Amino acid sequence: MKKNAHHPSIADSITKMRPKKNIALIAHDHRKLDLLDWAEYNRDILSNHNLFGTGTTGSLAAEKLNLPVFTFKSGPLGGDLQIGSAIIDNEIDIMIFFWDPLQAQPHDVDVKALQRISVVYNIPMAINRASADFLISSPLMDKPYERFIVDYSQRFKKDISV
Ligand code: PGA
Repeated sequence: MKKNAHHPSIADSITKMRPKKNIALIAHDHRKLDLLDWAEYNRDILSNHNLFGTGTTGSLAAEKLNLPVFTFKSGPLGGDLQIGSAIIDNEIDIMIFFWDPLQAQPHDVDVKALQRISVVYNIPMAINRASADFLISSPLMDKPYERFIVDYSQRFKKDISV
């Protein structure tokens, strides 16, 4: 380990999450039925929050739940990137993303970008049904929460001299 290197293991700033969360729902085609089934099972809880989704997933969820869902563009047309951008702007608090473990997607790079930005901004993210169950049953779902954000920019400052 290099002496004096910055190791961002603690929070540099805090983002306050309100009791009413903005939740993004995304599922790849072969995972959509599972996500919709999960969402229907958890409709009562989801109805206490604001729902968002990529184009197709969001529309299907709105229909299934009979709840308003703000839809971004379809995933392959940039919807994942739009949700990533909303995370950066602190407009999405939680992401439920059932991605397909068996099929490569035309927009794999976008999916990777979204997953990466979710880690950078430390948002709770569930990638399968069991993790979604644990997440949605958390007592923190309807409470305020202070989300730690690591200041990764410190790392950009290292060892660059021109
Ligand atoms: P979709 O996008 O909801 O528009 O199908 C999901 C995805 O593939 O990322």
